[in-house]
Amino acid sequence: MKIIDKVYVNGDFIKPHGTKTMDIINPDTLDILGKVTLCDKKDVNYAVKCAKEAFVSFSKTSIKRRGEILQSLYDAMSKREDELNEAAILEYGSPITAAKRRTAFAKNTFLAAKKQMEEFQFESELEDGTKILKTPLGVVAAIAPWNANYTHICQKTASAIAAGCSIVVKPSEYSAIQTQILCECFKEANLPKGILNIVNGVGEEVGKDLASHKDISLINFTGSTKVGRQISAYAAKMIKRTILELGGKSPNIILDDADLSIAIPMALTIAFSNSGQACHAGSRLLIPHDKLEIVSELLLKALKDIKIGNIEDEDCYIGPLVNKTQFDRVQLYIKRGIDEGATLLVGGLGKLEGLKGYYAKPTIFTNVKPNMKIAKDEIFGPVLSVLTYKNEDEAVEMANDTIYGLAGYVSSSDVNRASKIASQITAGWVYINKAVYEGKGLVLHVGAKQSGIGANRIDDYTQFRIIS
Ligand code: NAD
Repeated sequence: MKIIDKVYVNGDFIKPHGTKTMDIINPDTLDILGKVTLCDKKDVNYAVKCAKEAFVSFSKTSIKRRGEILQSLYDAMSKREDELNEAAILEYGSPITAAKRRTAFAKNTFLAAKKQMEEFQFESELEDGTKILKTPLGVVAAIAPWNANYTHICQKTASAIAAGCSIVVKPSEYSAIQTQILCECFKEANLPKGILNIVNGVGEEVGKDLASHKDISLINFTGSTKVGRQISAYAAKMIKRTILELGGKSPNIILDDADLSIAIPMALTIAFSNSGQACHAGSRLLIPHDKLEIVSELLLKALKDIKIGNIEDEDCYIGPLVNKTQFDRVQLYIKRGIDEGATLLVGGLGKLEGLKGYYAKPTIFTNVKPNMKIAKDEIFGPVLSVLTYKNEDEAVEMANDTIYGLAGYVSSSDVNRASKIASQITAGWVYINKAVYEGKGLVLHVGAKQSGIGANRIDDYTQFRIIS
């Protein structure tokens, strides 16, 4: 049993004032892995106070010193990569390849932020002598989702430190073991006291108290659009700056010239990435109307090749859903799809046989209409909705017929044609003939429409000051 009863605040592990605890459950085996003690409002106030005090001197540190800090964070995390992967497998049933990708990405954000900072113009001057300064904004509140908890904590922390801001992080309550390992890395990196503080707790209490705190200058939130709206409401009261990285219902357009033998298996991996619990999941597949039969055949064939369960095996692609709430939510949507009259190509209600954990059946609906809930809502599970279009204009119109604008995908044998379509999709990131971005760097999860506001750039963590 893992007992996590301390939090990392002001450079040390301390006992929180809050006393409530929450079980940490393995969604694959349903075993109780441990308990985490949850913080309360007093803990939030203390963490913000420490961050505010630390900001006074940290905001004046040199670029060189901040670079050293970012480097030491990278070094500390590199030593614990395997443990972080293992924790992600245990704590939310992440298939190992997805865990490895996230960990590598997370640690690289420190070096990417360092590079960005070294190239960043914190000060510039106009011809008439007017100075433009970009100064550290203040104390940042970072709130992370469970599905990429440490990735988002690292990304937000890296940018805050690069900009000269101190930060208080509210991790996901479903990621306590991962957060604990990360905090041990922070301790090992020997950071200046108070520049980075963690408060474990549930969203409606600790998350709300943190985001609403008067001494927070920027709320950097990643999570659902529903909670994003609440964050905007807290921010509005004090006109706080926000960066919001929210949900999606991303379209994947298969053009009529696409090689279906490649595009369709890839569409399935795009939809079921991280067991369908990925913000970028291409969960709406838009295909030419005369290709439904062949696409259905290829989807069924591709699904047979996808490995489910045994999440520690390198070739496993689908694991359990993170918890019972998420399992029940996915069931509700599968039922809705059936009730709404979509055709159940494969999958359906209930747990996958032979597996103990929260395994939903990978489900594909065809004949989905744009007004159905399964075409509109982010389900966050292995459920793919297939819609058909008559021509390119209709495909683009359907792709954009959503409140979201996180990602989009286009498959075609003609990259120029695909690019033209991609440029018409209102989304933060459109991928052509690929499922994931394999590059490095401080990659931004920019969202259009109700998928987000702002971006995780140094600029967003600074205050413009014009001196003339
Ligand atoms: P969630 O919105 O339920 O929770 C996110 C975080 O907000 C958690 O730490 C939670 O405790 C906290 N929270 C909940 N209610 C709160 C409140 N009232 N005030 C303050 N904080 C509160 O999301 P989740 O289930 O953890 O993660 C899945 C969601 O995150 C999906 O919608 C997914 O698309 C989105 N996501 C987006 C991105 C992106 O880059 N755009 C990346 C990952 C996940």
